[in-house]
Amino acid sequence: MPSVLAYHRPTNLDEAAELLSQPNRTPLAGGTVVVPKARKVKPEGVEVVDLQSLGLDTVETDGSRVRMGAMVRLGDMSTDSRLSAIIREAARRELPSALRNQATIGGTVAEADPDSLLLAALLVHDAKVTLHQGSDDQGSDDVGLGDYLTGDRKGLIVNISLDPSGQGSIAATGRTPADVPIVAAVACFTDSGMRLALTGVASTPIEVDSASPPKLDPPGDFRGSSSYRAHLAEVLSARAIQDAKTGN
Ligand SMILES: Cc1cc2nc3c(=O)[nH]c(=O)nc-3n(C[C@H](O)[C@H](O)[C@H](O)COP(=O)(O)OP(=O)(O)OC[C@H]3O[C@@H](n4cnc5c(N)ncnc54)[C@H](O)[C@@H]3O)c2cc1C
Repeated sequence: MPSVLAYHRPTNLDEAAELLSQPNRTPLAGGTVVVPKARKVKPEGVEVVDLQSLGLDTVETDGSRVRMGAMVRLGDMSTDSRLSAIIREAARRELPSALRNQATIGGTVAEADPDSLLLAALLVHDAKVTLHQGSDDQGSDDVGLGDYLTGDRKGLIVNISLDPSGQGSIAATGRTPADVPIVAAVACFTDSGMRLALTGVASTPIEVDSASPPKLDPPGDFRGSSSYRAHLAEVLSARAIQDAKTGN
């Protein structure tokens, strides 16, 4: 019964990156995914590198942007007035309270769950992911959240920044109001125009052009067929855009 073979707790980013460069090691943040996975998915076991002593648990304002360390908990995000109302609401709706106080923003981004309302809310707030680059480089590297989710540039997430401005709205359909939405649309009306992101229609949450949304071909499952999801996306997008414009 293999499980966690070793536990490491680095105290700086370079040490963490060095530990993670070895095979069969995984970052441990809130552990809501890592711990069950270590027991089930990898019968040979895994070594975990705990990120809790890296000082990545603060939220700071940086000009017009807000920068959150990768270890900031979703529970703290759900009450932080420096974030927008839709970010707070999405953080609150992501998980039940016990898990919310455990799960982190870094783990949520790395996990890239296609149903994540929080990732959709981050996308419409121009979120950028800072990856650790090692002491030889500048120390970090920023990538847009959309590119991070769909691209190959992975690695140790140091922080996530966003522009909290704009008037947002969430429109979602789930089996019950408490369930993870089958499809959700998140819109944000900003000085530079309307931004729109969708969950439940692709392998990750995606940002789409609000003026001419693309033709979607979502993967279907027991919660909703492909055509049902495409229909929901159209209806919910129109609703979220309208509400973001009017401030409802
Ligand atoms: C009951 C339950 C319900 C859930 N419902 C949802 C849901 O509705 N929506 C949703 O999106 N998710 C859901 N999840 C998944 C999960 O809770 C979230 O993705 C969560 O936010 C993960 O955060 P964590 O800090 O616990 O990550 P961890 O479990 O610690 O890590 C998750 C993954 O991210 C990697 N990682 C963590 N931090 C970093 C970092 N800084 N840099 C690089 N990689 C990192 C880990 O190695 C691992 O691969 C659910 C999980 C459970 C147990």
